[in-house]
Parts: sequence; C-alpha cells; structure tokens
Amino acid sequence: MNPVVLFAAGAARWPQWEGPLRAALKAAGVKADLVTSAAPDTVDFIIYAPGGDTPPDFTAFTRCRAVLGLWAGVERIVSNPTLTQPLCRMVDPGLTQGMVDYVCGHALRLHLGLDALVAGQDGRWNHEPPPLSSERPVAVLGLGALGAACARALAGLGFPVMGWSRRPKTLPGIECHHGQAGLRAVLERAQIVVTLLPATAATENLLNAKTLARLPHGAAIINPGRGTLIDDEALLAALASGRVGQATLDVFRIEPLPADHPYWAHPRVTVTPHIAAETRPATAAPVIAENIRRGLAGEPLLHLVDRQAGY
Ligand code: NAP
Repeated sequence: MNPVVLFAAGAARWPQWEGPLRAALKAAGVKADLVTSAAPDTVDFIIYAPGGDTPPDFTAFTRCRAVLGLWAGVERIVSNPTLTQPLCRMVDPGLTQGMVDYVCGHALRLHLGLDALVAGQDGRWNHEPPPLSSERPVAVLGLGALGAACARALAGLGFPVMGWSRRPKTLPGIECHHGQAGLRAVLERAQIVVTLLPATAATENLLNAKTLARLPHGAAIINPGRGTLIDDEALLAALASGRVGQATLDVFRIEPLPADHPYWAHPRVTVTPHIAAETRPATAAPVIAENIRRGLAGEPLLHLVDRQAGY
C-alpha cells in the first residue's frame, strides 16, 4: 500500500501545488497517494499551511509521521497541543530569493534616497550624492535561512553587514553577534536595520523604545519578519522624534493592516502587504518530496522546528 500524503493547505492552493508536488514526488522516487481528503488514521504525512480561524486538530492523525509546513514562519502551529508529530517548516530557494530581492531592493532604495529623488522632480538641481554602500552599516537581526542569505547579498552589494542571532554564529564577510550585548553593539552602528526573526515570546517587541533609542539618528528599518517584532507605539514615537528616519514594513500584528492604522498615512512609512517572499511551488515541492522520502527511509527530516524555541 502506498503512503498517504494529505494536502491540507487549503483548496484554493491545490491547483497550483498539485502538479509540482506530483512531479517532485516522482523525481524523488516516492510512490505515494497524494490526496486532499482521507480518513485521518490512514494519513502518513500532512502538507500544511495556516488558514481559517480554528486551529487544526491533529489528534486523529494517529499514524502521521510528520507535518510538513509550506510556510517559513510557524507561530500559528508551533504551540498547537494536538500536534505531537515532528513539524518541519519551509526553507525554499524560491522564497529565499524573493526575500533577498525585497531586502536588497529596499535597502538600496533607502541607501540611495530614491523616494526623495523620484518624488522631487521639481526642476531644482540640488541633490547631494549618496554615500557609498561601504559607508552605510546594515544590521540583519536573525541569521537563519533568510537572514543569512540577505546578509550575504547585502555584503555583496558593498554594505558593511552586522548580523545578530540567538546562538553564536560565523558567516564569512559578516560581523556576527549574539546576546543582549551583541544586540546593543549592532544597533548602535546600524543605519539600516533588517528584522528577519521568527515571532516567539523572546522576540516580541524586540524593537521597543529602549532598543530603538540605541540607533543612530535617522536610521531606517526594514521589517519583513513579523509584526510582533516591533512595538508599534514606540516606532511611531521614534519616527516622530527623527530617531527612525524611515520604516518599510511588510508584516503587521493585524493583517490586512486596518485602513485607519497610522502607518498607512505616515509620510516616512512604507507599507507593503506581506509580499516580501512567498513559497514558490516549483522550488518548494522538491523540499516537501525530499522530506517525505526521508521520512519513509527513516532518515533525519530537514528543517525540523524546535518546539521549545518556537521556530
Ligand atoms: P530561521 O531559519 O528559523 O532563522 C531564524 C533566525 O532568528 C535564526 O538566526 C535565529 O537564531 C534567530 N533568532 C530566533 N530567536 C531569536 C532570539 N530570541 N534572539 C536572537 N535571534 C533569534 O527562519 P527564516 O527562514 O530565516 O525566517 C525568518 C522569519 O521570516 C520567519 O520566522 C517568518 O516570520 C519571516 N518570513 C516572512 C516572510 C514575508 O513574506 N514577509 C516570508 C517568509 C518568512 P539562531 O541562528 O541562533 O537559531
């Protein structure tokens, strides 16, 4: 009997995923029944993405070997008490490339002052040339799959890049820091701060009145991580005082961001609608198939979530 792989990531996603998943399973040499519904006690693997208001109940999936998430962020499932199976998150080369594009694009935009140039076509010849990228220190908070890729790409563009993670890390060409002292050291010099941390209890309001006050005057923030990383009141106050010169925000505590939220109308805030990076079926389906192959072969799964750490 073939193993049963249940696609439980929503009916709307099925048309774009079915073809790539079937092709990837075949390429991985996995013979499986890929289905969108099945009796829970027959399911061997669940492909999952958050959706709907009710948290899923995994209790009846008694023979499920792993839940394979399509999203990089797992905050909506990681503490689900009914989930006793291993949980894998998505690390997708396409998603990573999208994040690198977003972060580098906005970092260059902020570095070059493009907003003022584009909006200032007023016949006056008075713009100062920007400094070189090598004169613009950038901090990347979070050096995981996405943060490390962005840090590397930013360093490749010439920016001096400082990175910050929970545990000590060594990345070629990146000045790596960890811990509270490391965070202070990074923030004190960062003219652009990129936040690519997961939403956990430990990262909630990481950018708050105290940490924002450490930034050089006029620093810019790019947050494609999660809305919970930022204390919104503190950021608005830091924008008002000029401590923060610009914020480009892709993620929010409430999404869609309510139409009356002050961020929308703020002249120095750019809101993007959680589009920084999306999982791409063509590049992500092979990751799912490889984990199913590994699960069936009894090999260690890729991208396992640490349930204690929450990411
Ligand atoms: P990841 O590989 O799990 O990396 C997370 C990084 O954050 C690691 O370097 C980790 O440190 C660090 N970290 C976690 N908790 C920390 C703490 N308390 N203090 C300091 N550092 C901490 O995650 P990823 O794949 O890079 O993704 C990062 C986040 O991006 C996701 O969780 C998701 O929220 C967000 N995301 C957003 C979009 C979008 O479209 N906007 C798309 C995808 C993902 P260690 O290295 O020491 O473990």
